[in-house]
Amino acid sequence: MRLIVIAVLSLLSCQKWNEMIGKHWSYEKPEEWGASCNTGRLQSPVDIQKTTHANLESVRIDYSDTPLAITNNGHTIQVNAAGAGGITVGETRFNLVQYHFHARSEHAIQGATADMEVHFVHKDAAGNIAVVGVLLRKGESNPLLKAIVENAPKEKGEKTVSTRGNPALLLPPSRGYYTYVGSLTTPDCSEGLKWIVMKMPVEVSEQEIALFRAMYANNARPVQALNNRIILESE
Ligand SMILES: [Zn+2]
Repeated sequence: MRLIVIAVLSLLSCQKWNEMIGKHWSYEKPEEWGASCNTGRLQSPVDIQKTTHANLESVRIDYSDTPLAITNNGHTIQVNAAGAGGITVGETRFNLVQYHFHARSEHAIQGATADMEVHFVHKDAAGNIAVVGVLLRKGESNPLLKAIVENAPKEKGEKTVSTRGNPALLLPPSRGYYTYVGSLTTPDCSEGLKWIVMKMPVEVSEQEIALFRAMYANNARPVQALNNRIILESE
């Protein structure tokens, strides 16, 4: 009897633990993500509507090419890109860690989402996170997205291909941006991230979107309340 009680208790705590670390979460039920996802006041993504023009610090991006290390992690297709350069915001250096994709876009601009969005996730020496988001819309083919979606593992798993890819291929030529303080858009939705959302979208082909959507048809978190945050817009 005592053994059964212990077994049931440990099963319960396993479930609790999985909930806490967010192992079993889905885009169907974002209201069940828990933690900051439900209680935070600085959540992402947001609909970028009212902005304040400001003379913002420069964002210098210097990505370089690396072999494509592509992971299908069960929630998205991610390219691990440590060593592929990074960004310098004012005086602060953030190194690129990984980039991954969402369909549709998570951020909206004036209420409108795009077909997809790429998130470049960076960390500085103190562990602070800065994410560059670029909206992707249907148009011309993008050779980097093409290589990623064609080579991505269809099921959960990792694959490194000999093809090299430079993340800069997914950046728009014009570097104007919006910036605000937000969160990770997946559990545990940690807050305090610096978001930099490029104003100009990048084109990707219908076929590239379709290949991604065949793996992840809907992995976009709905937009969150802005609350009392201000979105700054570069000149
Ligand atoms: Zn993301």
